[in-house]
Amino acid sequence: MNQVIVLDIKFKFGETEDMIHPVVLKDENNMILIDCGYTGFLSAIEEAMKEKELCCRDLTHVLITHQDHDHMGALSELKKKYPLIQVIASKKESPYVSGELKSLRLEQAEALQRSLPEDQKAFGLAFCNILRNVQPVKPDVEVQDGDELPWCGGCTIIETSGHTPGHISIYLKQEKIMITGDAAALENGELVIANPQFTLDRIEAEASLLPSAGNHGRPGLRPYG
Ligand SMILES: [Zn+2]
Repeated sequence: MNQVIVLDIKFKFGETEDMIHPVVLKDENNMILIDCGYTGFLSAIEEAMKEKELCCRDLTHVLITHQDHDHMGALSELKKKYPLIQVIASKKESPYVSGELKSLRLEQAEALQRSLPEDQKAFGLAFCNILRNVQPVKPDVEVQDGDELPWCGGCTIIETSGHTPGHISIYLKQEKIMITGDAAALENGELVIANPQFTLDRIEAEASLLPSAGNHGRPGLRPYG
């Protein structure tokens, strides 16, 4: 039976409570974790899986939607403990996940750091250091827009670039569900471009999600704001 299971991982960042929701796809042959949270989150993932009666030992793949620390932070811990898991990322994002190229988020944060007012510099530096601490992992498999994967009766990889250049989403054909990583978010009940301040190319982000002749009938979103 095909299952799409949303994990709930609650955590505190300073005094702020937050939550992330990695997704698990499960069919007869495969169990795929989509994104894996921050650095140091392995035990939190294991716990969240257990709550849903799942076990990391049964994971066959981890698909990383994009290079950000809150999506691939725990990847190296996961791969070290469960080395048989196949890591999948898009061809464009792969050099950043593998560490061949410097994280674009770190480039952005370092550039911003130079213009931050004095009283925000410590926070900015702490953020840069969090990004520097992300351990790279070489993906085992690279995918690109239009690739079909056999999971859960058939999934299509859809490039949703903009937030990062190689961000991908996954469309589950049978369930008619699209898992969008950081490409889209719900705002007051409407789908919008997620976190515009973290979107490296907002025009591209909107173009890759808005309905148009060239977008293969994928679900359309309203631009942010
Ligand atoms: Zn992101």
